[in-house]
Amino acid sequence: MITFSHVYKTYRGANFRECHALRDVSLEVEKGEFIFLTGPSGAGKTTLFRLLSAFDRPSSGAASVLGYDIGKLTASELPAFRRRIGVVFQDFKLLRDRTIFENVALPLQVLGESSAGIERRVHECLDQVGLANRRDDLPELLSGGEQQRVAIARAIVHRPGLLIADEPTGNLDAAMAQEIMALFERANAQGTTLFIATHDHGLVQQSGKRVVNIRAGSITRGAKTESEDQWLRV
Ligand code: ADP
Ligand code: MG
Repeated sequence: MITFSHVYKTYRGANFRECHALRDVSLEVEKGEFIFLTGPSGAGKTTLFRLLSAFDRPSSGAASVLGYDIGKLTASELPAFRRRIGVVFQDFKLLRDRTIFENVALPLQVLGESSAGIERRVHECLDQVGLANRRDDLPELLSGGEQQRVAIARAIVHRPGLLIADEPTGNLDAAMAQEIMALFERANAQGTTLFIATHDHGLVQQSGKRVVNIRAGSITRGAKTESEDQWLRV
């Protein structure tokens, strides 16, 4: 599902000094896994997710996601790749001039779903995140936590094979965070592979799931799927 082999992402900082946001990252994820990505601010979590979702390319090394080589993905392959993933961005990236309903409907429209099918599925997802009554509002009328829940609904609406979520419970209170985790569990039970970056150690600890930890651009634990890595899990 995901294979990274010696991946670097390098930026040029002040005085043209090279700075490795990711440093020799090797990582394996199998279909159906549910993984937490942890690590302090600035560790490289968002950078890793930008590569996983092909919003960025590796500076060196090989990154394969859903059978696509991220380094070689062409503009014409990109839409087919994106249709198979769902992404919750740290800053939501909702379309300001579209209603909540229209934002969540977007992935289904791209897939060419019927309007009756879209109506049914969008309603179901908005209901699951507790926002069915806000469907006709514009994003700016919603709180940060509500916008985050819209972003989550939009990421799961097309039942993607891979869901990547960058701190998706960061703006939610504990009760809502639990509900969102239950929603992710349901998506996982229905076959979606999940990769979730979080600062919420309580959430990670109680889940018993595989944890990938990243620190200063390097993976410090959980790089492999196998049971050989079991002892590294929480
Ligand atoms: P996290 O999401 O774990 O907080 P990031 O992936 O956002 O961390 O950032 C990792 C490192 O890469 C940070 O030091 C950050 O400053 C740097 N970085 C990220 N994006 C860029 C960029 N576009 N240009 C230069 N440096 C960047
Ligand atoms: Mg980040």
